[in-house]
Amino acid sequence: MTPSDHASDRQDRQDRAAPAAARQPPEVLAAAPWSTPRGARVTAVRTFLCAPQGCPYVIVRVETDQQGLTGLGCASDPQRTLAVRSVVDDYLGPMLVGRDPADIEDIHRLLLNSGYWRGGSIAHNALAGIDVALWDIKGKTAGLPVYQLLGGRARVAADAYTHVSGREAGEIAEQVLAAAARGYRHVRVQVAVPGTDTYGTAPRDAAEAAVRRARSGRWDPLGYLRHVPPVLREIRERVGPGVELLHDAHERLTPSQARELVRQVEDARLFFLEDALAPEDASHFGRLREAGSVPLAVGELYDDVQQYMPLLEARAIDFARIRVPTLGGLTPTRKLVAACELFGARTAPHGPGDVSPVGMAANLALDISSPAFGVQEAAAFKEATLEVFPGAPVPRGGALYPSEAPGLGVEFDERAAAAHPVPAPLEHDRWALLRAADGSAMRP
Ligand code: MG
Repeated sequence: MTPSDHASDRQDRQDRAAPAAARQPPEVLAAAPWSTPRGARVTAVRTFLCAPQGCPYVIVRVETDQQGLTGLGCASDPQRTLAVRSVVDDYLGPMLVGRDPADIEDIHRLLLNSGYWRGGSIAHNALAGIDVALWDIKGKTAGLPVYQLLGGRARVAADAYTHVSGREAGEIAEQVLAAAARGYRHVRVQVAVPGTDTYGTAPRDAAEAAVRRARSGRWDPLGYLRHVPPVLREIRERVGPGVELLHDAHERLTPSQARELVRQVEDARLFFLEDALAPEDASHFGRLREAGSVPLAVGELYDDVQQYMPLLEARAIDFARIRVPTLGGLTPTRKLVAACELFGARTAPHGPGDVSPVGMAANLALDISSPAFGVQEAAAFKEATLEVFPGAPVPRGGALYPSEAPGLGVEFDERAAAAHPVPAPLEHDRWALLRAADGSAMRP
């Protein structure tokens, strides 16, 4: 033992002997919440509702005491818009005022714990709105795009997939080839089943749209299983091997029906089959994998990154569909993306029209910076949406290129947004109210 070892040993024994009341709390506890001496301070957290795309967006803006330094986040849960806004306005936002926006990990954990009952899409969407805004601020403070904060470029651009749909193989294959001619290497194909509300298929014309509105959403799994696999196989024959095809079953099948689908679409050589099972049936994914070689994707309905872990550990899925707002923002999803890399799965972030351009920019930061990236769903933003969100990511040649502007690279035009208020009263998406032929409620 050296003299200094003896001295520290003596100090340890004295510390243990000291009465509890005489012990001082560690300095770090006394100082919490800590802050850098010259860091920015949050002055306000504001929410904005708008619907330039048709679906309601909840946009969060975190404001600071530094001239022009603000951050934007997407907290859009189109089914629970007002509840999410209330969680930001009434509970989380006030906790942030006065904090240094640089302390993202601490703020994220503090806000998450503040609800005591953690989890759920409403709480996590609200949290995500703030979290993504803090990453935007961190990028602006550093003068770097957010993807640089996450590790830098792992690729030049993120392959995007677009959506096509129709009733017969011929008309769908034509749309696939047209998308390929625009540069898309990945296309999601949805097949309308006569007499049912098949997910993701556009009505042919105004008359068909009226018929669909008139009847409540109706679902027939056997009709779907009869009709869709042969159409997918024929689409593959018509378009050849040069374009990746994706299909979304939208969690509407039982485990045995899902296995039947996997067997029947083998020859369509899909890039992935999405949501063959509902979250409640996730423990069946291992058996589904044994039914065929079709790559499996799941996750857009998950509201907690922990839900992916059993599937990743079991190597039961190939793609993690990641909805950044519903999972609580970039702070938890960057860890999920790292887990995907370590477990040999790929990422496919959720990007339909109800993820705003701010949320899409957060997706893109993950896509560009991760070796695990697979493909990015990319809705076509409408003109009105592009006006409200200058800098919105837009696919070029079937891929999304990151902005080099500091932060997320997307702005929010408050005046333009005011011209697109959310509908009142807010209604559920019709497909969320699906029923079977006997009238029983189905998962959407
Ligand atoms: Mg989906």
